[in-house]
Amino acid sequence: MTMQFKKLGNTDIDVSLICLGTMTWGEQNTKEEAFEQMNYALENGINFFDTAELYAVPPKEETYGRTETYIGEWFEEKKNRDKIILASKVAGRSGMKYMRGEETRLDKKNITKALEESLKRLKTDYIDLYQLHWPDRKTNFFGQLGYNHEENDDSIPLEETLEVLNDIVKKGMVKYIGISNETPWGAMQLIKIAEEKKLAKIVSIQNPYNLLNRTYEIGLAEVSVREKCGLLAYSPLGFGALSGKYLNEQWPAKARLTLFKEFTRYLNPIAIKCTEEYVKIAKENNLSPAQMALAYINAKPFVTSNIIGATNLDQLKENIESIDINLDEKIIEKIEGIHKENPNPCP
Ligand code: NAP
Repeated sequence: MTMQFKKLGNTDIDVSLICLGTMTWGEQNTKEEAFEQMNYALENGINFFDTAELYAVPPKEETYGRTETYIGEWFEEKKNRDKIILASKVAGRSGMKYMRGEETRLDKKNITKALEESLKRLKTDYIDLYQLHWPDRKTNFFGQLGYNHEENDDSIPLEETLEVLNDIVKKGMVKYIGISNETPWGAMQLIKIAEEKKLAKIVSIQNPYNLLNRTYEIGLAEVSVREKCGLLAYSPLGFGALSGKYLNEQWPAKARLTLFKEFTRYLNPIAIKCTEEYVKIAKENNLSPAQMALAYINAKPFVTSNIIGATNLDQLKENIESIDINLDEKIIEKIEGIHKENPNPCP
């Protein structure tokens, strides 16, 4: 297995094409398991980790910050902060008052406090890539396909948010900035404001992208390529569904969708039908369904890194090894056929 690397946006940083997602650590995974995953990932060529202030998921007062704490403890024990390109995130607008005692917003007060606390938990004095987890304004993300305009939106202006991000970059607390769960309008506005005001430019867009949700291709893929801010693809297996393990009404013990019934995004009837068809293609070609789903993403030119998630070392190994799978034209054609019949069943 040979890891591949890509430039992060317009920077000279090379990040591994497989990024280690972390959001199960502190909920489904213990600190020891998190350490095992980080050790294994680093030994197998991964230099890019993605976390967030609010992890573990599902978000809860008791587990918030725990994932970053584990990563900080690992850095301290292994003394290898410099080996990792670390991405974290500040929460967008939400009513999760346990984080800062009031609604979380993307203003100066919130971002400054969030960053200080993340740095403390991570036991470091810088974050390589600091991302806005989701927008402050009302728009369509987290599974909402259509846009409903609300005239009376009291959102924090993008310019104000960008100025705060620019300040923390200037102070060296953050090297680069990125966005997540954004729309083409939001991405392009931030790029335009950065050019006009000579502020920090976004280098990445972290959005969902998998065989059951390819909405990224509609508008944002072009933004990624033309503006050099590639996709950091999250939920590449649709919360594990694309492995096929929930088919035929199976509910594997301790698996995410068995444990947390509120996560229904990837299990609607059309998604199940499409998953059956994707799994069939994989099996006909002696591929693991998970590796086929990941390899499809790895090959996309607008993708900078594929953020995988795992709850054990077998999954982690399987997912990292997707780097060695090249899907031939016949397989791609079949995948496109399924997509064309039922595009984006899980937006
Ligand atoms: P995913 O690949 O869709 O799902 C990963 C989960 O699927 C694993 O935790 C595991 O859960 C199961 N799984 C993984 N590999 C498997 C395999 N080979 N066979 C069978 N089951 C397998 O990715 P995700 O966890 O949703 O997202 C990955 C990362 O993206 C997160 O850790 C986080 O860093 C980031 N993310 C960001 C956002 C955002 O809003 N920006 C949102 C979501 C995720 P079980 O063992 O429990 O089944």
